Amino acid sequence: MYKVLFTSDYEIHGSGMGSPKDLVVDPTTRMLDQLDRYGGKLTIMADVGEILKFKEYAETTGDDRFHWGGIARQMQRAVKTGHDVQLHVHSSYFNATWDEAKGYWKQDYAEYDLASLPYERVREMIRRGKRLLEETCRVAKPDYECFAFRAANWSMQPSPNIVRALIEEGFRIDTSVWKYGVYDDLVKFDYTGAHSDLVPWPIDPNDVCRRDPEGRLFEFPIYTEQQPLWVFLTANRVYRVIAQRLNPLPDPDAVADPPAGAPAAGPPRSLARKMRGLARAIVRQHPWKVDFNQCTGKQLIDGLRRVEARYGHPDAPLPFVLIGHSKTFTSHNERSLRPFLEFVAAHPDRFSFGTFADFEAERYRAPVAA
Ligand SMILES: [Zn+2]
Repeated sequence: MYKVLFTSDYEIHGSGMGSPKDLVVDPTTRMLDQLDRYGGKLTIMADVGEILKFKEYAETTGDDRFHWGGIARQMQRAVKTGHDVQLHVHSSYFNATWDEAKGYWKQDYAEYDLASLPYERVREMIRRGKRLLEETCRVAKPDYECFAFRAANWSMQPSPNIVRALIEEGFRIDTSVWKYGVYDDLVKFDYTGAHSDLVPWPIDPNDVCRRDPEGRLFEFPIYTEQQPLWVFLTANRVYRVIAQRLNPLPDPDAVADPPAGAPAAGPPRSLARKMRGLARAIVRQHPWKVDFNQCTGKQLIDGLRRVEARYGHPDAPLPFVLIGHSKTFTSHNERSLRPFLEFVAAHPDRFSFGTFADFEAERYRAPVAA
């Protein structure tokens, strides 16, 4: 049995710009409504860095212009109706200030990379985030628990501080790793050697990629394959690239998300060199995450079929973790996702929808035979 998990990073633009109503609350309402029609389950990965700021702004000024109230009600609706809310932390927001003149949240870039912050600071952020989600969600579901985590920009390296802080705060699952992923920007990680692209593993506290039979935190990776560049050229992805260009960070190239190895901006190069770079990028394989904003429904169906062909049906159910972002969930996206939802719903003997609470992480302590 494969459990299909829709995880959605719930946040405004990385630049600190944009309306939480337009980028977060309204598209997530459409996501929840669409999934409800098929019995699908959404796991909202709530960026508590910004949500704490929205709440503080409402409480200190009496003006809820950042929709803290709507966010709280939406998270409560989710947990009450079988969906889930778990922790996502953009640490650069903890010291952020609202810049009225420029109309954006001015973030603290010295705290951009959570994994590289001192242990006590990492732990404090995780503790505050977990407390916010539990206080908010328990209003609607008294036994709600925050126990799963996704790092901002997926960065779980260097691993020791962040893994230790998560364990000490009672977390059981991390869902940041996507095999083959490599970033060397404001955050730095290399997931080429990740233990699996699909099967959960107990994490070695020194390196999230490695399996440690004694590990206390389990990695549930975002499913990823190596694919040629043309697979990435979908309408949804082009939309996202444009949206990202219109809302850059102070350093626009710093956290843009081209497939690793794609031609990057840099000093001027000769046309011939550029063409050679492009040719190499086209031929080379790139990590392809199952992103339900950017892949078509048909691509997701094919991905799930390949997983089934490769891993069969072991005793322990396997997670098929998809990622998305509320801010890029357009109506076109909603249409292109439909065939995938129909496909999963039509084969209850092989697939079902779920959340992290459906898994007994301990079942993955011993290797799962494929
Ligand atoms: Zn995020």
